[in-house]
Formats: sequence, structure tokens, C-alpha cells
Amino acid sequence: MKKGFIICLILLICIIVGVVIYFRTNNKKEDNTQNSTSKIENNNKEDKKMSNNQTYFIEDITLNSGYKMPMLGIGTYLLSDSQAENSVYWALKDGYRLIDTARIYGNETGVGRGIKKAIDEGFVTREEIFVTTKMWTSDFNNPDEAIDASLRRLGLDYIDLMILHHSQPSNDVTAYKGMERAVKTGKLRSIGLSNYYTPEDFDRLASQVDITPALLQNETHPYHQSTEMAEHLEQYDTVLESWFPLGGRGNTQVLFDDDTISRIADSHNKTSAQIILRWHLQMGYIAIPGSSNESHIAENYDIFDFELSEDEMQDLKDLDKNERFADY
Ligand code: NAD
Repeated sequence: MKKGFIICLILLICIIVGVVIYFRTNNKKEDNTQNSTSKIENNNKEDKKMSNNQTYFIEDITLNSGYKMPMLGIGTYLLSDSQAENSVYWALKDGYRLIDTARIYGNETGVGRGIKKAIDEGFVTREEIFVTTKMWTSDFNNPDEAIDASLRRLGLDYIDLMILHHSQPSNDVTAYKGMERAVKTGKLRSIGLSNYYTPEDFDRLASQVDITPALLQNETHPYHQSTEMAEHLEQYDTVLESWFPLGGRGNTQVLFDDDTISRIADSHNKTSAQIILRWHLQMGYIAIPGSSNESHIAENYDIFDFELSEDEMQDLKDLDKNERFADY
């Protein structure tokens, strides 16, 4: 009887110890699972943070035509044919994929040569490049011929974006309708406008055409931020592109020496030009800084390893004087 009681007691103790060990082990497993889950979450956060820290690349923008357009390109105003050829070739080597020219610049042939050289050397394909040119006002009554002539000079069989160079109420709708025909035949992919500075002027043209302008290229920089036009364009899903993004030849130093811009440049260890270009992109504006200087061209593309904070964007916003440098 005594023996039986002792065996029962030992069995009971074994069961209790077994139950305790079982629960403790399971709890540990849960702890471990929780730990590893939170590690994965942390790792994911770390990964995101790291990728953000390493690159601040800005994606291509999708136009209302459905085509994608890079946000940063090379401008060619005031460049000769041979300067344009070199600038375009250097830019494409640096990673630029957007090129801006115009029939009135007289350098479409040089631009075409720079593109051909880059394609022939095999580091870029035609499909990867986005070429913009502009129809000059004296061609507005003969848009079909003007488009064919630009294609010929550029040496291309289609142009990614053609824009009317200036508002000209007497015949800009005629010119625009010519561009619409060329979209249908595949000579042009997207079409848009340049130098329309009031919502009324933009609406005047937009209300008379079938294809909504994909883009408006206007003088835009920290002293002329184009906010009214940019807001007006939202209803059309039309994007804003900045010409004179650095203020334009002869005016750049005014912007480069601006106290706010230089302070922000120093704090990021970047140049004023890079800060201004980064500002355009973070505003959602496409920028096409012009240069014939190989190192400036490289410098202007080296803006994807930092970003401007909200406070810095606000400080730059406060610089707006709504004043243009150009009078055209
Ligand atoms: P911009 O604001 O790009 O300034 C160009 C000037 O800045 C040049 O003197 C250049 O040497 C200098 N520069 C460029 N990078 C620099 C750097 N990193 N450091 C120091 N200096 C630097 O003016 P832009 O070229 O006249 O305008 C940009 C582009 O816009 C033109 O090239 C052209 O393609 C287009 N554009 C369009 C119109 C229009 O009416 N639609 C008018 C003007 C220009």
C-alpha cells in the first residue's frame, strides 16, 4: 500500500515536470519565432533604408500620351553643330537619355550625329533615347514640311516629342494639327507646347485640338517657379519642363551665388547647379541644363546620390520672385 502510494507520487511528479518542460519549450519556440519575425521586419526596414540612402534615382515620368520620358536631359541652345554633337555624345555616355534641340538652334544635324555615334558605339539604342525638337513659328503654316525636315536633319525615323516653340495665336492651331497628323503616321510620338505663360493661352490652344499637349516647356528656375502654370496643367495631366533650369547663359551666377542655394549646396557637399537641378526634379519638373563643357555635363547628371529635405525644398520655394530672366 505504502509502495503503491510512492509510485503514484513519483508518476505525478514526472507528469508535472513533463508538463512544465513542455510548456517552457513551447514558450521558447514562440519567443524564437517572434524574434525571427521581428528580425525579418527590421531587416526589411534596413534594406529599404539602405536602398534609399544609396540611390535617390528619380524614375522616368509617364506622359499623357503613354510614353515614358526621362526627367533629366541635355539642352543644346546656343551650341554649334559640332558642340551639339560632342555634348550629346558625352551626355549619352554619362547616362543621360533625354536630348533637347530645336530647328531654330540650327544644330539638329549635330545632335543627330552625336546620337548616331553613341548608337554605333553600342552603349545605347535608339529606343532608349528620348529626342525632343521644336517647330519654329515661321514654319507654323507648313507643319508637315517642317516635321519632315527635322526628321531629315536629325537622321531619325521618328521624334519622341515635338513641341511648338512659341505661342502664336494667329496660326499655332494649324501647326499643332500638323503635329497631330504626324502622330497618326508615326513620325512623332508625343506632342506639346513651349512658351505659353497664362492658363488662358494654354486653354485657347488645348480647346481647339484633339490630342492634349503632353508637355509644356517654359522658363522655370528657383526665381521663376511656374507654380500657377504647373497647377493649371494638372487637370490636363500635362507635365512641365524647365528651360533656363540654371537661369540661362549670363544669369547662372546669380542663382549659384544665392545665399540659400549655396548654403544647401555646402551642406550636401554638392554644387549650386546640382542643388538647383535636384530641386527641379523633386518639384516634378523635367530639367534640360545646357552645356558644351564635358565636366559640367557630368556634374549635372551626378544628382542621384542625395535628396533635398522638406525644409530645404521649402527654403527654395521661398526664393520665388515670379521673375523671368528672358524677355521672350
Ligand atoms: P541653362 O539654365 O541650362 O544654363 C546654361 C548655362 O549654364 C550655360 O552658360 C552653361 O555653360 C552653364 N552651365 C551648365 N551647367 C553648369 C554647371 N554645372 N556649372 C556651371 N555652369 C554651368 O540655360 P539654357 O541652356 O539656355 O537652357 C536649357 C535648355 O533649354 C537649352 O539648352 C535648350 O535646349 C532649352 N531652351 C528652350 C527654350 C525655349 O524657348 N523653349 C529657350 C531656352 C532654352
